[in-house]
Amino acid sequence: MTEPNAPEPSCLDDTEPDFISMEDARQTIFAAAPPRGRHHYVPLADALNRVLARDFLATLDVPRRDNSAMDGWAVNTQGQGAPANSRFREIGVALAGQPFEGQVGPGEAVRITTGAWVPAGADTIVIHERAGFADGTVTSFDAAEPGQNLRRAGEDVRAGEVLIAAGTRLMPAHLGLLGSVGTSEVLVTRPPRVAYFSTGNEVRTAGESLEAGAIFDSNRHTVAAMLRRLGIEVLDLGVVVDEPEAMQRAFGQAREAAEVIITSGGVSVGEADFIKPTLRGLGEARFWKVAVRPGRPFTFGLLGETLFFGLPGNPVAVMVMFYGLVQPSLRHLAGEPYRAPVQVSAVCRSRLRKRPGRTEYQRGILSRTADGGLEVEKTGMQGSGILSSMAAADCFIVLEEDDATVEPGQRVTVQPFFGLV
Ligand code: AMP
Ligand code: MG
Repeated sequence: MTEPNAPEPSCLDDTEPDFISMEDARQTIFAAAPPRGRHHYVPLADALNRVLARDFLATLDVPRRDNSAMDGWAVNTQGQGAPANSRFREIGVALAGQPFEGQVGPGEAVRITTGAWVPAGADTIVIHERAGFADGTVTSFDAAEPGQNLRRAGEDVRAGEVLIAAGTRLMPAHLGLLGSVGTSEVLVTRPPRVAYFSTGNEVRTAGESLEAGAIFDSNRHTVAAMLRRLGIEVLDLGVVVDEPEAMQRAFGQAREAAEVIITSGGVSVGEADFIKPTLRGLGEARFWKVAVRPGRPFTFGLLGETLFFGLPGNPVAVMVMFYGLVQPSLRHLAGEPYRAPVQVSAVCRSRLRKRPGRTEYQRGILSRTADGGLEVEKTGMQGSGILSSMAAADCFIVLEEDDATVEPGQRVTVQPFFGLV
């Protein structure tokens, strides 16, 4: 790491007038902010949405033994199967959790329920619905294939194999899998402590009076909620006024308490924009004009070990840049491998004004057409302050750098929000 205040040789600092792409910005952040590698054990019940720290090796086969997929009879066909109307003599019962201990000989059957271990000697399950039973004898109405309606030992999970790979964010199915091999605790990465403050003399907290020119804070709520989705509870440092001393105090406080600092506003080149000079005084800073709309001004920095993300002030820009850069960086920090968001192609039903030269994230609603295709419609005005357009949306319409205005009927790229977590 370079000395604080040292001039930066980077071609990405603010002496460079060129815009950079979201992708380049993301890669630069990833390189500067490697996974932290801090782990701890948590009970399985608390592991949802946490990131697995090490490969988890299965300690058991699941299922442990061959078992029945259906209610019916386990029969011995000597591995050959049996023609329709074959008869088997019932010699016992196997229930889930109560195995039949004996041996099933040729021509014999054991009544069996779903999940019960298949008794020794049996090779096929004849299902209840397709069999008759009278006088201790089962008749299979259909021809029986060897191995039919059996669930094989280890077909779900094999002992010794990687059950879940390191870096996986644990979802309900993962918790179920871990449960299926008897796990009660799991080693996960520690989420970083994150502090946030809004900036701006005009920004007020609910309950405060709203004098002329003032606005209520909305960014604090979106940022806190986007963090919560990642399993991170934010340390909320309120609103900081546009004064160098106040800014310095806030940075100091945040740095003391957190490993990641996020702010909104104050990153443009206006006279009240103090993020830049403050950050410069405290550590390394990268200021970018990311070629994205909304979102353009974005700051990334390092204050010693502490990471800094300076989001723009406009509420839609905050969300676009959080999802584009901050969220992937926090996931990277937690040890998750990067996966580009899923994008699909859809017919656009709206006219979308657009100038070439930057990528735009417009907001839309994606739906299915009668013929099974996808179409998308924009959600009203698309300015960077129109947060209602984001609230109404379920996807970004991603217009590429070279794209110009889109006319109704043209195809566009759509990024559904579900990929954003
Ligand atoms: P700035 O980048 O500080 O010039 O802010 C750009 C725009 O975003 C201005 O219109 C600000 O009033 C607005 N803004 C800044 N912070 C917030 C906030 N926390 N909530 C809502 N709007 C904000
Ligand atoms: Mg401001």
